[in-house]
Amino acid sequence: MLNLLLFGPPGAGKGTQALKIAEKFGLIHISTGDLLRAEVAGGTELGKAAKSLMDKGILVSDDIVVGMIDAKISSNSSVKGFIFDGFPRTLPQAKALDELLAKHNQSIDITLALEVDKEELYNRISLRGKSSGRADDQDKNTFLKRMQVYNTETAPLKDYYKNQGVLVTINGIGEIEDVFNSLCNEIIKKGNPVH
Ligand code: AMP
Repeated sequence: MLNLLLFGPPGAGKGTQALKIAEKFGLIHISTGDLLRAEVAGGTELGKAAKSLMDKGILVSDDIVVGMIDAKISSNSSVKGFIFDGFPRTLPQAKALDELLAKHNQSIDITLALEVDKEELYNRISLRGKSSGRADDQDKNTFLKRMQVYNTETAPLKDYYKNQGVLVTINGIGEIEDVFNSLCNEIIKKGNPVH
């Protein structure tokens, strides 16, 4: 199996690239943001609880997202692997993911960290806000809050994966196809991932 983690700040291109990578390598794409938005759209209790936090750019509790990931991993046995997008976002989530994967004799093979500067991130988020309908894409203060949450809670995970020897940083600025090719090269360099 091949288990990838796509890491980066809001607007780095994680969702776009994760879909392309999932298709190319035959992986299951798991985005906690998408799973949470589906709960919101479905009007579930979980969705109702998550919505106000998401709209403000604040993280949903670790228990909720880890529970969703657990369900996804358990319901997708005998797959080629997973690509995680927007998860983990905190150290407890990263540790929980390692434990969940270990239960299936799996681990994270590569963490691909997309690097994009703050000005470009804001430009992308405001452009996306015109069509995404996402409340958290609409407003500069919410963007700044998401960046602050990313910098304090999520960015430190780079050290966690660096210490595991699986971190690769990628320049996330440029054409979508060019960034995609850089990501694919790193995945292929790690060994032949597609069986
Ligand atoms: P995203 O689509 O990844 O930008 O996520 C949108 C929002 O969903 C975030 O700002 C959080 O409120 C929530 N969310 C998504 N993934 C997570 C996660 N792994 N942990 C906590 N909250 C999350």
